[in-house]
Amino acid sequence: MIKTFDNFPLKEKNSFRMDVSCARYIEYDKADDLKEIDFNTLPQPVLCIGGGSNLLFTADFPGTVLHSKIKFVKYVDVGLDEIPIAVGAGVTFDELVKETCGHGLWGLENLSLIPGDVGGAAVQNIGAYGVEIKDVVSGVVCYDIQEKKKVTFKKDECAYAYRSSRFKEAPDKGRYIITSVLFRLSRKARPQCGYQGLCDALGGIEPTSPQQIREEVIKMRQAKLPDPAVIGSAGSFFKNPVLTMDQFLHVAGVAEKEHGEHFPVPHYDAGLGMLKVPAAWLIEQCGLKGKRIGQAAVYEKQALVIVNDSGSASPEDILNAMEVVTNSVREKFSVSLTPEVEIIQ
Ligand SMILES: Cc1cc2nc3c(=O)[nH]c(=O)nc-3n(C[C@H](O)[C@H](O)[C@H](O)COP(=O)(O)OP(=O)(O)OC[C@H]3O[C@@H](n4cnc5c(N)ncnc54)[C@H](O)[C@@H]3O)c2cc1C
Repeated sequence: MIKTFDNFPLKEKNSFRMDVSCARYIEYDKADDLKEIDFNTLPQPVLCIGGGSNLLFTADFPGTVLHSKIKFVKYVDVGLDEIPIAVGAGVTFDELVKETCGHGLWGLENLSLIPGDVGGAAVQNIGAYGVEIKDVVSGVVCYDIQEKKKVTFKKDECAYAYRSSRFKEAPDKGRYIITSVLFRLSRKARPQCGYQGLCDALGGIEPTSPQQIREEVIKMRQAKLPDPAVIGSAGSFFKNPVLTMDQFLHVAGVAEKEHGEHFPVPHYDAGLGMLKVPAAWLIEQCGLKGKRIGQAAVYEKQALVIVNDSGSASPEDILNAMEVVTNSVREKFSVSLTPEVEIIQ
């Protein structure tokens, strides 16, 4: 069934709680509903949203917001070690994780408590604690707005990369509406405990159920990330920058000048001689952790998160906080931060 609303308020539909509206809002609960929509006659542009947990609306949206309420979880061939599962794009992602962990299926547990819906998660290639959703996705089913037909992409055709996929980038962005996602989860134990913080939290003991990992991940996330039901944010605001060796040595030099020799700069190998440095560390080194910037702030427990903790921040407040952070990091380290959050103009 399709439901259509005009001049629809979006405050409850985006986790930053931006008090904006859209010209038209459409909800649908079946993939076939999309065939009935004449996309050419809708207020433009058209934007799909799931939980709105990775978006920053900067003003009232002049076009159409489409929201999937396709909610099903279908287990296939349940006799196998690897269990194929088809899941509607409108299923809340963490409800899926809770359910599959409850069935003892391995694969999604490290991604516990990430806000948003299954469709949005597959667009974003969400990741946490050493796992990305692409590790367990086998395919993505879409409605192609241009060709007006269903199309299924195998995982290898989704162009998955760090917090990215073909659904997020030109030329395909906006062309494909994800209607369901296909996963392959495992009945056999496949704990992913390589991430140091998780390994420490588990006390070095090999977990025997995905539920054990889920519980630890939830504890860790609750200790350092804002609860979207209480504090507005879109999670990590910036991507972790990938630096050349020269850029990295410059960062290390700045840190050494300030803190003396052997002050460690956290980093990870990003391949091809490049190094990934946590954006949170760079922001913290600029003294911005917990800093209030107008009605917004850099979250006191995790510097990568910009929060609407006052509840009354406007898009300008969030953009201003973003600018303060990016300018400070650029001035101090000559590193450009890019937003992970999608900024809707
Ligand atoms: C407190 C907090 C913690 C977070 N922690 C993490 C984390 O640990 N790891 C992580 O990766 N992310 C994290 N995030 C970010 C966010 O939760 C994820 O990016 C999430 O997957 C976004 O899903 P969504 O349904 O809210 O998508 P939205 O924000 O609504 O949309 C995201 C993108 O997907 C597109 N889209 C959404 N649905 C569809 C569809 N059906 N078809 C086509 N395109 C679609 C949108 O147009 C947009 O481009 C966090 C966010 C918050 C608020």
